[in-house]
Amino acid sequence: MKHQNNGACEKCLQIFDKYPGFNQRLKTWFRLLQDRRPEVHISCAGRGSIDQAAALAAKRSRCKYGESAHNFNCAIDIFVSLPNKGIYDEEWFKTVMPNEIPESLEWYGAVDATYYELPHIELRGWKKLKADGTLTLVEVPHAKRF
Ligand SMILES: [Zn+2]
Ligand SMILES: [Zn+2]
Repeated sequence: MKHQNNGACEKCLQIFDKYPGFNQRLKTWFRLLQDRRPEVHISCAGRGSIDQAAALAAKRSRCKYGESAHNFNCAIDIFVSLPNKGIYDEEWFKTVMPNEIPESLEWYGAVDATYYELPHIELRGWKKLKADGTLTLVEVPHAKRF
């Protein structure tokens, strides 16, 4: 399946559904954005332990399993699909994204971001929700090493 600029991309939905229980607020926000901006897609949503180890090895993430919002189903990495533009087109990100991010979300491409990671958007305050047990890992580790 390929990403399609039809405003309700099936491939993106498939990525959201990779691990059950993706954060509803973030998913809904993205789907409304994609409805208006059909060029926006996700490359990643939830990440299990194998996916996280691969992301770390590829330097797409600086986190071990259990340290990233992706491991708790509350982060996405976005990209754009536009003719003659790169998937991380800086002009698109700088003109569109700042006006689209609500207070409840944190975009790592923002000028005041904690870390700079252009495609990454996560639920603001997820670590607090993790600490109080509201969020759980997408996959339970076999041994309690985490
Ligand atoms: Zn898509
Ligand atoms: Zn990310």
